[in-house]
Amino acid sequence: MAKAKSRKPKPLFERVCFIGIGLIGASMALAMRREGLADAYVACARRPKTLKTALKLGIVDEATSDYAKAVVGADLVVIATPVGTNGEIARIIAPHLKKGAIVTDVGSVKRMVIDSVAPHIPKDVHFVPAHPIAGTEHSGPEAGFAELFQNRWSILTPVKRTSAKAVAKVADLWRKIGAKVDTMDPDHHDMVLAITSHLPHLIAYTIVGTATDLGGDLKQEVIKYSASGFRDFTRIAASDPIMWRDVFLNNREAVLEILQRFTEDLTAMQRAIRKGDGATLEDHFARTRAIRRSIIDAKQA
Ligand code: NAP
Repeated sequence: MAKAKSRKPKPLFERVCFIGIGLIGASMALAMRREGLADAYVACARRPKTLKTALKLGIVDEATSDYAKAVVGADLVVIATPVGTNGEIARIIAPHLKKGAIVTDVGSVKRMVIDSVAPHIPKDVHFVPAHPIAGTEHSGPEAGFAELFQNRWSILTPVKRTSAKAVAKVADLWRKIGAKVDTMDPDHHDMVLAITSHLPHLIAYTIVGTATDLGGDLKQEVIKYSASGFRDFTRIAASDPIMWRDVFLNNREAVLEILQRFTEDLTAMQRAIRKGDGATLEDHFARTRAIRRSIIDAKQA
């Protein structure tokens, strides 16, 4: 009896182009490779060293610093550069995009990315804005790893013009590389992320800056005894300066709104300490401890 031929399932995409092949782009490419989601992988970045590393580590098959060349023939283009560069990149690649292609991004800010990218996207190309809620303080292609998105959320913020089919395909891609998918309004996303990510980074950058500016013995001892809490802030404050500069410049309104609330709450804590109001402090700390427990229960710790 003739044996049935075992056929490999058709990959989701033929040719995927990553513009920016750092922590996020490289992790996506590695995870997509692991799952066999595309036939060919191309990277585009500015520096030859980045491109060489991406090739050497087997993250992509081809690498170029020419945006136009990079996107030719790609049915998926992932913009994974600092958000401040996305609009200009979209303008340059637009005339070279394949008809029917999907352009997506991974930017930590959504409204500004949509406003700067969407106007350049041709009518016969689909734009699906996205943001994976996963990361580390490391950058560059060598920081990428295929498991980064495992059990993490990826938020899609489709715009009016985005086709439901393209959104479903991008959602499928994220699920296949281990993520859970949610859909959100872009402005709501920016407010949520201002509190869950942008403000914590701002606090970490500020605290580490304050400690760094201390003089003499005190500065030495901050390093020596850092395991008492400071060390956790230094990890966050070691994140890429350009990426974070762009986040704050491009999510200004939401960050300022959340920062205002935070400053008011901080003043209340200051008052409780000055007045020796232990009940207020204890009550507040008990509430925050419960939040930690719910994060652990949600397996996001
Ligand atoms: P990264 O590790 O620093 O990588 C950035 C990549 O973009 C590098 O390959 C860089 O290479 C390239 N690049 C920078 N400017 C470029 C330009 N103008 N044209 C072409 N390539 C350029 O950064 P990442 O952490 O992957 O972040 C990328 C995006 O993901 C950002 O939009 C960020 O908001 C978002 N994101 C980050 C995290 C996180 O935790 N890191 C989490 C979620 C989302 P060259 O400098 O060699 O060109």
